[in-house]
Amino acid sequence: QQSKQPKPEWLRIKLVTDGNYAELKDMMRSKTLHTVCEEARCPNIYECWANRTATFMILGDICTRACRFCAVNTGMPTELDLQEPERVAEAAEQMGLRHCVVTSVARDDLNDGGASIFAETIRAIRRRLPFCSVEVLIPDFMGNWDALKIVMDAKPDILNHNIETVERLSDRVRAKAKYDRSLELLKRAKEMQPRIPTKSSMMLGVGETYEEILQSMDDLRKVDCNILTLGQYLQPTPNHLPVERYVHPDEFAALKREGLARGFDHVESGPLVRSSYHAHEQVQSAAES
Ligand code: SF4
Ligand code: SF4
Repeated sequence: QQSKQPKPEWLRIKLVTDGNYAELKDMMRSKTLHTVCEEARCPNIYECWANRTATFMILGDICTRACRFCAVNTGMPTELDLQEPERVAEAAEQMGLRHCVVTSVARDDLNDGGASIFAETIRAIRRRLPFCSVEVLIPDFMGNWDALKIVMDAKPDILNHNIETVERLSDRVRAKAKYDRSLELLKRAKEMQPRIPTKSSMMLGVGETYEEILQSMDDLRKVDCNILTLGQYLQPTPNHLPVERYVHPDEFAALKREGLARGFDHVESGPLVRSSYHAHEQVQSAAES
């Protein structure tokens, strides 16, 4: 089903490239490295790479789940690659990153959901790049809190787990995940490491109401989530969940004010905002608060 409305002009992207971006792009070509930034054709790539921020996907590129908004392939994942943490760290070092985001597909086939590889990747990046902040964007590990503890013990700079949408639409948008379980994950992460900021993200435009978004903000604040990002959902292919509406930039701005008033330390809210957008600034504002 095609999305109902044509794309508004605020989603047309201005391409601004500078020296940093071009240099990294050349290096990626020569080293055949892979980032989510490139593979998801993220609209923020010029800005993020110029600011030395990038997102790596670990644990393979085949997911055990099939969320209706996501373009990642579903199926039986590949064998675990124990060298992966070191390779990601090497790539981050070669890119000279100041903020590195590490995320993964859901690996429900593994006992720890891939938590030990996340932890090892954090440690490997720290060894090579002691001044680079590391954010992990983790799956829900099917509610395996021992797996969560493995990640928290490696002390990422930010623990990110997305609720993606409001409670009412959660089952429809991301089958196999659960709204309450995602909130519980954020709550437990904070209990395990109270000083590590937690973060969550929602994509707007899938049928949620303004009131429901505010309710989700309240739910996130109840578990002391510190950073919130809100962006426009874009349909990756006509087979994916259609866009219900394009949220106006003024509404994103109003939601940012609502979020800050509720006590989030940092809120990124705008049509092109993605989970890792301006992530480097989020580390700073969390550290200052
Ligand atoms: Fe990469 Fe995230 Fe920036 Fe997009 S927002 S370019 S995925 S770091
Ligand atoms: Fe995509 Fe993550 Fe859902 Fe897998 S679990 S389909 S990678 S959003």
